[in-house]
Amino acid sequence: MNDNQLLRYSRHILLPEIGIEGQEKLNAAHALLIGAGGLGSPIALYLAASGIGTLTICDADQVDLTNLQRQIVHRSDGIGKNKVDSARDTLAAINSEVEVRALVERVEGERLDALVAEADVVLDGCDNFATRHAVNRACVKHRKPLVSGAGVRFDGQIAVFDMRADDAPCYACLFPEDAETEEVRCAVMGVFAPLTGIVGTIQAAEALKVLTGVGKTLAGRLLLLDALTMELRTVGLKKDPACAVCGKR
Ligand SMILES: [Zn+2]
Repeated sequence: MNDNQLLRYSRHILLPEIGIEGQEKLNAAHALLIGAGGLGSPIALYLAASGIGTLTICDADQVDLTNLQRQIVHRSDGIGKNKVDSARDTLAAINSEVEVRALVERVEGERLDALVAEADVVLDGCDNFATRHAVNRACVKHRKPLVSGAGVRFDGQIAVFDMRADDAPCYACLFPEDAETEEVRCAVMGVFAPLTGIVGTIQAAEALKVLTGVGKTLAGRLLLLDALTMELRTVGLKKDPACAVCGKR
Protein backbone atom coordinates (compact mmCIF):
# COMPACT_ATOMS: atom_id res chain seq x y z
CA MET A 1 0.00 0.00 0.00
CA ASN A 2 1.41 3.45 -0.87
CA ASP A 3 1.25 6.53 1.39
CA ASN A 4 -1.92 7.80 -0.22
CA GLN A 5 -3.67 4.49 0.30
CA LEU A 6 -2.49 4.33 3.91
CA LEU A 7 -4.14 7.72 4.45
CA ARG A 8 -7.27 7.01 2.42
CA TYR A 9 -7.96 3.78 4.28
CA SER A 10 -6.46 4.85 7.64
CA ARG A 11 -9.76 4.71 9.52
CA HIS A 12 -10.21 1.09 8.49
CA ILE A 13 -6.59 0.28 9.21
CA LEU A 14 -7.03 1.70 12.72
CA LEU A 15 -9.68 -0.90 13.45
CA PRO A 16 -7.88 -3.89 14.98
CA GLU A 17 -10.46 -6.20 13.40
CA ILE A 18 -9.55 -4.95 9.91
CA GLY A 19 -6.02 -3.50 10.00
CA ILE A 20 -3.71 -3.46 6.99
CA GLU A 21 -4.32 -7.12 6.34
CA GLY A 22 -8.09 -6.71 6.11
CA GLN A 23 -7.80 -3.59 3.99
CA GLU A 24 -5.48 -5.42 1.59
CA LYS A 25 -8.09 -8.15 1.28
CA LEU A 26 -10.66 -5.51 0.29
CA ASN A 27 -8.26 -3.91 -2.19
CA ALA A 28 -7.79 -7.31 -3.84
CA ALA A 29 -11.45 -8.33 -3.80
CA HIS A 30 -14.00 -8.47 -6.62
CA ALA A 31 -17.66 -7.78 -5.87
CA LEU A 32 -20.51 -8.36 -8.31
CA LEU A 33 -23.46 -6.00 -7.85
CA ILE A 34 -26.77 -6.75 -9.53
CA GLY A 35 -28.71 -3.50 -9.91
CA ALA A 36 -27.68 0.16 -9.73
CA GLY A 37 -30.91 1.43 -8.16
CA GLY A 38 -32.07 2.17 -4.62
CA LEU A 39 -30.10 -0.64 -2.97
CA GLY A 40 -27.28 -0.66 -5.50
CA SER A 41 -26.56 3.03 -4.92
CA PRO A 42 -25.40 2.86 -1.28
CA ILE A 43 -23.83 -0.54 -1.92
CA ALA A 44 -21.70 0.86 -4.77
CA LEU A 45 -20.85 4.06 -2.89
CA TYR A 46 -19.65 2.28 0.26
CA LEU A 47 -17.80 -0.50 -1.54
CA ALA A 48 -15.97 2.02 -3.74
CA ALA A 49 -15.19 4.37 -0.85
CA SER A 50 -13.93 1.36 1.14
CA GLY A 51 -11.49 0.52 -1.63
CA ILE A 52 -12.91 -2.67 -3.07
CA GLY A 53 -10.50 -3.75 -5.83
CA THR A 54 -13.00 -4.44 -8.58
CA LEU A 55 -16.73 -3.72 -8.69
CA THR A 56 -18.79 -5.15 -11.52
CA ILE A 57 -22.21 -3.50 -11.77
CA CYS A 58 -24.99 -4.82 -14.01
CA ASP A 59 -28.14 -2.87 -14.84
CA ALA A 60 -29.93 -2.43 -18.15
CA ASP A 61 -31.93 0.66 -17.16
CA GLN A 62 -31.42 4.37 -17.69
CA VAL A 63 -31.69 7.02 -14.99
CA ASP A 64 -35.05 8.80 -14.85
CA LEU A 65 -36.44 11.55 -12.68
CA THR A 66 -38.41 9.19 -10.42
CA ASN A 67 -35.14 7.43 -9.44
CA LEU A 68 -33.45 10.44 -7.89
CA GLN A 69 -35.56 10.45 -4.70
CA ARG A 70 -33.52 7.49 -3.40
CA GLN A 71 -30.94 6.28 -5.94
CA ILE A 72 -28.19 8.44 -4.51
CA VAL A 73 -25.37 7.35 -6.79
CA HIS A 74 -27.13 9.20 -9.65
CA ARG A 75 -27.32 12.96 -10.26
CA SER A 76 -29.84 15.17 -12.03
CA ASP A 77 -27.46 15.56 -14.97
CA GLY A 78 -27.42 11.77 -15.29
CA ILE A 79 -31.06 11.55 -16.39
CA GLY A 80 -31.20 9.56 -19.62
CA LYS A 81 -27.76 7.99 -19.10
CA ASN A 82 -27.29 4.29 -18.50
CA LYS A 83 -27.47 3.74 -14.74
CA VAL A 84 -24.20 1.83 -14.69
CA ASP A 85 -22.39 4.65 -16.55
CA SER A 86 -23.89 7.26 -14.23
CA ALA A 87 -22.79 5.18 -11.22
CA ARG A 88 -19.31 4.67 -12.64
CA ASP A 89 -18.88 8.45 -13.06
CA THR A 90 -19.87 9.12 -9.44
CA LEU A 91 -17.67 6.33 -8.09
CA ALA A 92 -14.66 7.49 -10.11
CA ALA A 93 -14.99 10.94 -8.50
CA ILE A 94 -14.93 9.33 -5.04
CA ASN A 95 -12.20 6.72 -5.52
CA SER A 96 -10.50 6.35 -8.89
CA GLU A 97 -8.47 3.39 -7.60
CA VAL A 98 -11.49 1.11 -7.86
CA GLU A 99 -11.89 -0.70 -11.15
CA VAL A 100 -15.57 -0.33 -12.00
CA ARG A 101 -16.93 -2.58 -14.73
CA ALA A 102 -20.20 -1.12 -15.95
CA LEU A 103 -22.36 -3.64 -17.80
CA VAL A 104 -25.48 -2.29 -19.51
CA GLU A 105 -27.35 -5.56 -19.40
CA ARG A 106 -29.89 -7.55 -17.48
CA VAL A 107 -27.64 -10.51 -16.89
CA GLU A 108 -29.01 -14.03 -17.05
CA GLY A 109 -28.10 -17.53 -18.11
CA GLU A 110 -24.48 -18.35 -18.93
CA ARG A 111 -23.46 -14.72 -18.78
CA LEU A 112 -24.64 -14.44 -15.17
CA ASP A 113 -23.00 -17.77 -14.41
CA ALA A 114 -19.61 -16.57 -15.65
CA LEU A 115 -19.84 -13.27 -13.76
CA VAL A 116 -20.74 -15.00 -10.49
CA ALA A 117 -17.90 -17.51 -10.96
CA GLU A 118 -15.26 -14.75 -11.01
CA ALA A 119 -16.63 -12.74 -8.06
CA ASP A 120 -15.64 -13.08 -4.39
CA VAL A 121 -19.02 -11.84 -3.17
CA VAL A 122 -22.33 -11.19 -4.91
CA LEU A 123 -24.75 -8.43 -3.86
CA ASP A 124 -28.34 -8.57 -5.00
CA GLY A 125 -29.94 -5.17 -5.38
CA CYS A 126 -32.43 -6.08 -8.08
CA ASP A 127 -36.17 -5.52 -8.04
CA ASN A 128 -37.70 -8.75 -9.32
CA PHE A 129 -37.98 -12.39 -8.28
CA ALA A 130 -36.83 -13.87 -11.60
CA THR A 131 -33.43 -12.19 -11.31
CA ARG A 132 -33.17 -12.92 -7.58
CA HIS A 133 -33.68 -16.61 -8.23
CA ALA A 134 -31.26 -16.67 -11.16
CA VAL A 135 -28.58 -14.97 -9.05
CA ASN A 136 -29.25 -17.39 -6.18
CA ARG A 137 -28.91 -20.42 -8.47
CA ALA A 138 -25.59 -19.20 -9.82
CA CYS A 139 -24.31 -18.52 -6.29
CA VAL A 140 -25.32 -22.01 -5.13
CA LYS A 141 -23.63 -23.54 -8.18
CA HIS A 142 -20.35 -21.68 -7.66
CA ARG A 143 -20.52 -21.63 -3.84
CA LYS A 144 -20.33 -17.86 -3.65
CA PRO A 145 -21.56 -15.80 -0.71
CA LEU A 146 -24.75 -13.90 -1.62
CA VAL A 147 -25.75 -10.74 0.22
CA SER A 148 -29.43 -10.28 -0.42
CA GLY A 149 -31.58 -7.23 0.29
CA ALA A 150 -35.04 -5.91 -0.48
CA GLY A 151 -37.00 -2.82 0.43
CA VAL A 152 -40.46 -1.55 -0.42
CA ARG A 153 -42.79 0.90 1.34
CA PHE A 154 -41.28 1.06 4.86
CA ASP A 155 -40.24 -2.60 5.05
CA GLY A 156 -36.76 -3.92 4.51
CA GLN A 157 -35.06 -7.29 4.73
CA ILE A 158 -31.46 -8.40 4.50
CA ALA A 159 -29.84 -11.85 4.62
CA VAL A 160 -26.51 -13.45 3.79
CA PHE A 161 -26.57 -16.83 2.08
CA ASP A 162 -23.01 -18.03 2.48
CA MET A 163 -22.88 -20.96 0.11
CA ARG A 164 -19.27 -21.69 1.04
CA ALA A 165 -20.77 -23.73 3.91
CA ASP A 166 -22.49 -27.05 3.14
CA ASP A 167 -25.33 -26.43 5.60
CA ALA A 168 -26.06 -22.87 4.42
CA PRO A 169 -29.63 -22.12 3.39
CA CYS A 170 -30.11 -20.43 0.01
CA TYR A 171 -32.61 -17.78 -1.09
CA ALA A 172 -34.92 -20.48 -2.48
CA CYS A 173 -35.02 -22.27 0.90
CA LEU A 174 -36.74 -19.10 2.12
CA PHE A 175 -38.73 -18.20 -1.01
CA PRO A 176 -39.17 -21.34 -3.19
CA GLU A 177 -38.95 -20.66 -6.90
CA ASP A 178 -42.39 -22.13 -7.59
CA ALA A 179 -44.16 -20.24 -4.81
CA GLU A 180 -46.75 -17.78 -5.96
CA THR A 181 -45.06 -14.80 -4.44
CA GLU A 182 -46.67 -11.50 -5.14
CA GLU A 183 -44.24 -9.13 -6.79
CA VAL A 184 -44.30 -5.89 -4.81
CA ARG A 185 -42.51 -3.17 -6.70
CA CYS A 186 -41.54 0.34 -5.72
CA ALA A 187 -43.05 1.67 -8.93
CA VAL A 188 -46.51 0.64 -7.71
CA MET A 189 -46.21 0.52 -3.94
CA GLY A 190 -43.87 3.42 -3.24
CA VAL A 191 -40.75 3.35 -1.11
CA PHE A 192 -39.43 5.48 1.73
CA ALA A 193 -36.21 7.04 0.44
CA PRO A 194 -33.88 6.29 3.39
CA LEU A 195 -35.18 2.71 3.64
CA THR A 196 -33.22 1.73 0.53
CA GLY A 197 -30.21 3.55 1.96
CA ILE A 198 -30.41 1.62 5.24
CA VAL A 199 -30.90 -1.76 3.57
CA GLY A 200 -28.18 -1.17 0.96
CA THR A 201 -25.76 0.12 3.58
CA ILE A 202 -26.30 -3.00 5.69
CA GLN A 203 -25.66 -5.09 2.56
CA ALA A 204 -22.38 -3.21 1.98
CA ALA A 205 -21.38 -3.81 5.60
CA GLU A 206 -22.13 -7.52 5.33
CA ALA A 207 -20.12 -7.79 2.09
CA LEU A 208 -17.10 -6.13 3.72
CA LYS A 209 -17.43 -8.56 6.65
CA VAL A 210 -17.68 -11.54 4.30
CA LEU A 211 -14.55 -10.39 2.44
CA THR A 212 -12.44 -9.67 5.52
CA GLY A 213 -13.79 -12.45 7.74
CA VAL A 214 -14.57 -9.88 10.42
CA GLY A 215 -17.36 -10.41 12.96
CA LYS A 216 -20.47 -12.51 12.47
CA THR A 217 -22.43 -12.01 9.28
CA LEU A 218 -26.17 -12.42 8.74
CA ALA A 219 -25.51 -15.93 7.40
CA GLY A 220 -28.44 -18.11 8.46
CA ARG A 221 -30.43 -15.11 9.65
CA LEU A 222 -32.97 -12.80 8.04
CA LEU A 223 -32.94 -9.25 9.36
CA LEU A 224 -36.31 -7.50 9.14
CA LEU A 225 -36.61 -3.75 9.42
CA ASP A 226 -39.78 -1.72 9.93
CA ALA A 227 -38.81 1.87 9.24
CA LEU A 228 -42.17 3.16 10.52
CA THR A 229 -41.37 2.05 14.08
CA MET A 230 -37.62 1.65 13.43
CA GLU A 231 -37.71 -1.80 14.87
CA LEU A 232 -35.34 -4.54 13.81
CA ARG A 233 -35.76 -8.24 14.35
CA THR A 234 -33.92 -11.31 13.14
CA VAL A 235 -35.39 -14.65 12.20
CA GLY A 236 -33.25 -17.78 12.02
CA LEU A 237 -33.03 -19.48 8.61
CA LYS A 238 -32.39 -23.18 8.05
CA LYS A 239 -31.45 -25.03 4.92
CA ASP A 240 -34.47 -26.86 3.47
CA PRO A 241 -33.30 -30.42 2.64
CA ALA A 242 -36.04 -30.54 -0.01
CA CYS A 243 -35.01 -27.23 -1.61
CA ALA A 244 -35.09 -27.56 -5.39
CA VAL A 245 -31.97 -25.41 -5.74
CA CYS A 246 -29.56 -26.38 -2.95
CA GLY A 247 -31.23 -29.48 -1.43
CA LYS A 248 -29.17 -32.19 -3.14
CA ARG A 249 -25.85 -30.46 -2.77
ZN1 LIG B 1 -32.01 -23.79 -0.87
